Amino acid sequence: MELLTQTPEIKAKAIHTLGDNHFYVKSTSESSHMYQVNLSKQCCDCLDWPWVWLCKHITAVAHFFGDLRLLKTEHTVPRET
Ligand SMILES: [Zn+2]
Repeated sequence: MELLTQTPEIKAKAIHTLGDNHFYVKSTSESSHMYQVNLSKQCCDCLDWPWVWLCKHITAVAHFFGDLRLLKTEHTVPRET
């Protein structure tokens, strides 16, 4: 649960709302790159996501726009899509 209590390193201004729980999150390392986050499915197209199914982009979006309690924190739970 440590992830959820950290201050997100991504600021609110780096997040662009697309509507319908879709967001663009500006990369912290490469400002020209945007990651697409789907908060309802809790997926992100960054490289970290396939490994942990929870990345800083999703955490940041949930922090500013969603409900952190909805985040899946059990990495062993199969995704329901
Ligand atoms: Zn990500």
